[in-house]
Amino acid sequence: MNENNEIFTDGQFPKTVYLRTMFAMKKILDMGQFKIGSSESKEFKYFKKVVMDELYNSMQEVFEAMEKRDLVQKCECGTSIRNGYKPCEKCNGSGFRNTEEFMDWINQDATATADIQVTENENKRNDPNAKGSIVS
Ligand SMILES: [Zn+2]
Repeated sequence: MNENNEIFTDGQFPKTVYLRTMFAMKKILDMGQFKIGSSESKEFKYFKKVVMDELYNSMQEVFEAMEKRDLVQKCECGTSIRNGYKPCEKCNGSGFRNTEEFMDWINQDATATADIQVTENENKRNDPNAKGSIVS
C-alpha cells in the first residue's frame, strides 16, 4: 500500500478520496471478473454498473456536501468525476479541489494547534464529571 500513501501528501481532499476510491474500484471489479468470468457477460456488466454507480455517486455526494460548506470547490480544469483520470494535479479527475479556507485550516501552524490543546485541557479541568476533577 506504500504507493497509495503518496496520494495523501499534497492535502487535496477530493483528489485523495478519488484516487483511493478508484484504486478500490479496480480491485473490486477485478474480483468480480475473477468470480463471474467474462467481462462481456450480462452478469459482469450489471455488477460493474452497480459498483461504478455506487462509488462515483457516493464521492460526488460527499464533494457536493463539502462544497455547500465551502470546504471544496469545482476544479478550474472543468472535468467531472465520471470522465476518468485527468492529468490535473489539483483534482486528478475528481472535479473538485480544496478551497483556500480549507487549505488554511489544514495548514494551521503549531501555535494554533497548541492553543486548541490548552483549551481542551482547560475544559477537562472544568468538567465536573472528569476523573480527578477539582470541582465538586
Ligand atoms: Zn482539475
